[in-house]
Amino acid sequence: MPAESGSGSRRRQQADAGFALDTRSLGRKPGTMKTLQRSVTAPEKIGLDLIGIPAGSQVELDLTLQSVSEGVLVTGSVSAPLAGECSRCLESFTDELELQVTELFAYPDSVTEQTTEEDEIHRLVDDMIDLEPVLVDAVGLELPLRPLCEPDCPGLCAECGVRMAIAGPDHGHEILDPRWAGLAKFTAESPGTGGTAAELN
Ligand SMILES: [Zn+2]
Ligand SMILES: [Zn+2]
Repeated sequence: MPAESGSGSRRRQQADAGFALDTRSLGRKPGTMKTLQRSVTAPEKIGLDLIGIPAGSQVELDLTLQSVSEGVLVTGSVSAPLAGECSRCLESFTDELELQVTELFAYPDSVTEQTTEEDEIHRLVDDMIDLEPVLVDAVGLELPLRPLCEPDCPGLCAECGVRMAIAGPDHGHEILDPRWAGLAKFTAESPGTGGTAAELN
């Protein structure tokens, strides 16, 4: 299929750029499809408080737009860098996000449009798809509320707050209340049963 309409000068239409996807070339003919690979600069952070796609980073779209009777079905993958803050040790970290998208955008005059709410099924507006709210929702669902820098992040020392990953496994504190010191000595010296309580006094 030849790409777009030769002149490309229908300026009153929203531009086919960024997260705005033009579906006009599908011609509302069910079964027609086109693929779309595009790199979009995220206009603002997409995600949650502690983790998200940073503003200004590149979001890679690899999508298929398929005309169906009720609208246009968008399927494919979205990948982007992530920047997060570990909820356990508070360190910044980066990661990659890849998520699968399957979303129907209903034609304005379709049965789907008339029988669903706009927040259930997205709408085509002037034959354009706005993918951004879909991404915001999908990314929000995909990302963890409590992100971790590593799955087994050891977190912070409860006593001094140092990152345990840096401090190492031997890190610890001998913070014993003097009143317990004798007991600690006692338990250390008398494993099992049968010790005397003499040293407690
Ligand atoms: Zn961590
Ligand atoms: Zn410590």
